[in-house]
Amino acid sequence: MNQRNVCLSLLLLIPALALGQRPEVEGMRYLDENRRPVYREHIIIPDVGAYQVLKCDFHMHTVFSDGHVWPNVRNQEVWQEGLDAYAITDHVEYTPYREDVKVNHNRGYELLKESSAKSNMILVKGTEVTRNTPPGHFNALYIGDASEYIESREATQDKAAVMKAAAQHAFIFWNHPGWQPGIAGSYDWIPFVDDLYQNKALHGIEVFNGFGFHMKALDWCIDKGLTVMGTSDMHNLVAHEYDLGKEYVHRTMTLVLARERTAESIREALDAGRTVAWASKYLAGKEEHVRALFDACVQLMPAHYTEERKNGDKINYYALRNNSDLYFELDLKEGNNIKRIVLYPRSEQQVTASVGTTSLSGEVISTYVRSDQHLSVNFLLK
Ligand SMILES: [Zn+2]
Ligand SMILES: [Zn+2]
Repeated sequence: MNQRNVCLSLLLLIPALALGQRPEVEGMRYLDENRRPVYREHIIIPDVGAYQVLKCDFHMHTVFSDGHVWPNVRNQEVWQEGLDAYAITDHVEYTPYREDVKVNHNRGYELLKESSAKSNMILVKGTEVTRNTPPGHFNALYIGDASEYIESREATQDKAAVMKAAAQHAFIFWNHPGWQPGIAGSYDWIPFVDDLYQNKALHGIEVFNGFGFHMKALDWCIDKGLTVMGTSDMHNLVAHEYDLGKEYVHRTMTLVLARERTAESIREALDAGRTVAWASKYLAGKEEHVRALFDACVQLMPAHYTEERKNGDKINYYALRNNSDLYFELDLKEGNNIKRIVLYPRSEQQVTASVGTTSLSGEVISTYVRSDQHLSVNFLLK
């Protein structure tokens, strides 16, 4: 056999190996046709300048707190869904299965270190510091020993509990502000939070948590220079909560604009606030990052046709192209009218403009750069 044939034979062997080398058993057959095919999604988002756009979910639970799954299921999910990085953030103060599962705040991370590396996933060590509301919950990423945290939920310990994470130089973000409605101070910039912020012990806020859009949090992030976060806060199976069989459905996550696909680069980007949160069809973030992401994904192609109408008007035809797996919805101004353009993932729409028009402007209504403001765009016509 020549070398090429050897390579080919090896390739053909891989699918058999992937299914495991099962010995033939006389009188037995395997009915594999109904197995879910095992593959990893590939979410396409072009680089933004010098940055890769990494898909990250830094908030999820396992049976080591109140989640319903063993840690390895989380690794399978993020691998299948095409994420780049994740963190298990089990509660320190809330471990309802303690009679069944030995409390060990480091264990989820330890169990995943090897499997995450094997599947080329970036695993960040994290935890959820779970104080009563207010002040509520805080996630800490890039932590050290999780057994050093405070399990007591005494209000007098609230600050000390968060400062444990600060002492470990963690990246700390405030989770789902306003999640328990009707409690005074649960959705306000309270002195406790301001004190953390002044002491550089608060670095970001969840703008999207699962299916919730915490709109005030976006304005706080913009006004105070905090990092915009989006997370799944998954307790059950992702497939149980999200309609993953439908097109364009993805878990809530943070898109991190990182120099490299490494844990260190992600940390640098989180510290620098280079993120856009992504939930459902919506993107939320600081204007400069949402704009850079939009510009990297969407381009207006040169005019491909000029129509001459009976009344003498000349109209140019253009294609507006979305090169990404993100979804954009735009309201474009056309003369005195506004035209709604839906740019599905990896698709084009046709737009028109009178000859002589130099630009088309509008708003990307599937984006938020403040709670009450979409990204404004302006396409120069060629
Ligand atoms: Zn929480
Ligand atoms: Zn949580």
